[in-house]
Amino acid sequence: MSHNALLIIDYTNDFVDSNGALTAGKSAQLIAPGIITLADQFLANDDYVILPTDLHVEDDPFHPESTLFPPHNLANTWGHEFYGPLANWYAEHQADPHVYAFAKNRYSAFANTNLDNFLREREINALTLTGVCTDICVLHTAVAAYNLNYPLTIPADAVATFTPNGQKWALAHFKNSLGATII
Ligand code: ZN
Repeated sequence: MSHNALLIIDYTNDFVDSNGALTAGKSAQLIAPGIITLADQFLANDDYVILPTDLHVEDDPFHPESTLFPPHNLANTWGHEFYGPLANWYAEHQADPHVYAFAKNRYSAFANTNLDNFLREREINALTLTGVCTDICVLHTAVAAYNLNYPLTIPADAVATFTPNGQKWALAHFKNSLGATII
């Protein structure tokens, strides 16, 4: 039997909370209810909820993001923890075998991770992408998923980024170039 998975990408304090180190701010905070509703729906349908989450060490001289962004999502910090409503949801559901959180170290959730194997082992063959940032980590994950033939659904009210232009461009790219269904 085939399954679907909901990906909740980088929904941490540093990217979402007003005091986060690299925050998309209000636009990112506003998508929390939509993400939680989807997460509950996916588990109720016997589908999967997967949380690929950026993880860095401070001042890593070998990491390209060190020169692009301020330090963020550092191991064992508040900034790396899931943002409020998702932190509560995860605490309640983390023992569920259909819930899987893992660390990533590039924009794409597929880069340097076992995500593709995890999906294939469980016959998960369609993905719904949520989280932040629409035109960075969600975008790169969507491109990687497209290249691996996963059909994509993107709920427009469950992804957010820094600028309205970035949001608009990425949603158009998902639809027009990656064949995603935008809902
Ligand atoms: Zn990062």
